[in-house]
Parts: sequence; C-alpha cells; structure tokens
Amino acid sequence: MTPPFVYPAAPHARRHGPRGYADYPSYRPWLRDEFTFRCVYCLLRERWVLGGLHIDHFSPVALHPELETTYDNLLYACASCNAAKRDLELPDPTSALLADSIRVLADGTVEATTPAAARIVQLLGLNTPKYREYRLLWIEIVALAGSHDPDLYRRVMGFPDDLPDLSALHPPGGNARPDGVTASHFERKKAGTLPETY
Ligand SMILES: [Zn+2]
Repeated sequence: MTPPFVYPAAPHARRHGPRGYADYPSYRPWLRDEFTFRCVYCLLRERWVLGGLHIDHFSPVALHPELETTYDNLLYACASCNAAKRDLELPDPTSALLADSIRVLADGTVEATTPAAARIVQLLGLNTPKYREYRLLWIEIVALAGSHDPDLYRRVMGFPDDLPDLSALHPPGGNARPDGVTASHFERKKAGTLPETY
C-alpha cells in the first residue's frame, strides 16, 4: 500500500514537448500525463475532485506574457494551489519538492527540510488548517481502504479512467520530445504494463 502523499524521488525531467498551440488550455492532456494526474504542489489527485485540475504558469503571465503558451512553463496544479500562487515567483516545485526535501507527517502536516521547499510551503500556505485537514482526510481514507476495501483502494489510488491518447494529438508546432508518447500512461495501459495504483 502506498501512502497518498509521497513526493517524487528525483527532479522531474519533461517527457513531452508539444509546441505551437495558440491557447494554453490546449496543452491540458499533455500536462495531465506529464504530471501523473496530480497537483505538482500538494499532490491532490484528479480522482479526488470533480472537473480536473488547473493549469499553472510557473513564470506568471503578468510578468512573462511571452511564456503564456510555452509548454515548459506550464504546470498542473489544483484549484487551491493555483489560486494561492497567483502571480508569485516560486522555486520550481518539480525540483524543489522532492522526497528528501518535503514529507507529509501522519497528522497531515508537511515538513520541509530545504529553504526552497520551505518557501513554497510558506507562500502557498501548505501548512494551513485547510490543507492539513484535507491531507489527514485522505491519509485516513486511503489507510482504511488499504486495510479493509481493496476495490475502494483501487478507486482512490488508481489512475483516471480517461487517460489521454496523446498519439491522436497533433500539436501545430510539432513535438520536441516524441518518445514521451510511447511511454505515456495510455500506451502503458494498452500494453498491460501500467500498475493498478500509484
Ligand atoms: Zn494543490
């Protein structure tokens, strides 16, 4: 059984490189797959909310309008984290929020052990009562499901049912990292190599 809040072990290297869409929401299927259907800041999963997550501009559009539709400037984030981030410039969460720099304790609190992780926690309010209660709720649901209800465990910790078929998409400016499509969650599910939960 995997606990619901474990940050990645290593910095994220982009797997996809779509280019040329005129509007940033068109990058959504790529970002969903890229960031494993969860918020890069707090790890909230798509399966836990209705309506999917938001698209966050790492360098805010207000300060860097030229990066509005640049894929490598886009992150996948939940509504709360995206709203808290606003036009702030933060350390890059894909390299600052790692298993050895931030961990979630059994009571739902996050503990950051590097200045960059601590800065993100502080600026986004990741230790406010709202976030602590949300984490505690999911920690307890997942633990209960893991010990008593395997089907529920698969539903709360599984991948979404609607995995994006990236091979069917044709970004207007091409794809700088085409190998990522072959390794996408959709293709892995088709090949039978995608685990049931993550
Ligand atoms: Zn979040």
